[in-house]
Amino acid sequence: MTQNTDDTVGLKVTQVSHAYGSVPVLNGVSLQVDAGEIHCLLGPSGSGKTTLLRLVAGLEKLRSGTINIFGRIVGNDQAHVPPEDRSIGFVFQDYALFPHLSVQRNVEFGMKRQDESREDPQELLRRVGMQDFAQAMPHTLSGGQQQRVALARALARQPRVMLLDEPFSGLDARLRDEIRSSTIKLLRTAGVATVMVTHDPVEAMAVADRISVIHDGRIEQSGEPEELYLRPVNHRVATSLGEANLLESVVKQGVVQTPLGSVTAPRFQEGDKVAVLFRPECLRVTQQPEENSAPVKLRDVRFLGDRTRVEVETECGEVLFASVPMQQANGLATDVHLAMLTTPAVVGTNDNESRKHSP
Ligand code: ADP
Repeated sequence: MTQNTDDTVGLKVTQVSHAYGSVPVLNGVSLQVDAGEIHCLLGPSGSGKTTLLRLVAGLEKLRSGTINIFGRIVGNDQAHVPPEDRSIGFVFQDYALFPHLSVQRNVEFGMKRQDESREDPQELLRRVGMQDFAQAMPHTLSGGQQQRVALARALARQPRVMLLDEPFSGLDARLRDEIRSSTIKLLRTAGVATVMVTHDPVEAMAVADRISVIHDGRIEQSGEPEELYLRPVNHRVATSLGEANLLESVVKQGVVQTPLGSVTAPRFQEGDKVAVLFRPECLRVTQQPEENSAPVKLRDVRFLGDRTRVEVETECGEVLFASVPMQQANGLATDVHLAMLTTPAVVGTNDNESRKHSP
């Protein structure tokens, strides 16, 4: 089999397409995850995230494209290395613990008995906060506890590639933060190439070195969290990463007009339909007009603790929301002004334009 000498690349997925029967699910997906990298896959339900993980794990046979793990081809239209020989660990949503084995035996399952470098099962259980449940049987555990045991079991195999499908979804907020950060730290330090599926953009941005947004079986954009958040290539990426005000417009002489002022759109052509992306925290509400501001009517003010969400309506009837510090929202009149704090990104509104975006 072909060997790739670059061992910083942990997982390389090249032009993978997949269909169930005649229904296409993945369409030319390419993805690269370096050793020690946490790569989050973000996308709506049904976009093909689980299918991609199953193909990488070898649970589904690949028909088109190539999957390469640390320089070794593990799947293409001819080769299919079985899951147990791929140096991968996975935690899928159904946990799948062995019901007749205790928690500790579940974790020990698959560890190489003679291997002195093997992890101590008690230590792994401690890392996921389950050290007091070593002798418990899976059916006596809650969903979140089973999820943590499944995670410890996957770590016990000392995989080189880890595939996690919503691994922290069953945990309450405090426990989730704790277990998530210790697990991520462990994977990073061990140089494991990790792909983590999540539907939560805040979680993706909190843990990921890079994020790929997938939609309808295609990767729309891959990049660092900040790049995707501030410079998404299109509508779908913009809204996948968090709340977004998107004002549609048309490019005229390299410029897009918005109620808050004009914005340059150098990568688009005359007449292109685009949207201007104002993140809520990049807007400011003021009593007096400012540069790059517009008169608006106050519609709603919601106190959210650390920030206040202010909903306003422009004179053209567009509803926008700003996320501002509490002091800024106190005692606002109905007639106020909305100002832009930073230059917004201009994004494409459809697939033809999705490859172009403002710098
Ligand atoms: P996601 O993980 O993003 O929710 P999936 O990869 O689970 O998406 O599913 C993508 C599409 O493939 C969905 O339309 C789903 O119904 C379909 N699908 C998933 N698994 C199968 C299967 N074993 N047989 C037929 N269709 C499937």
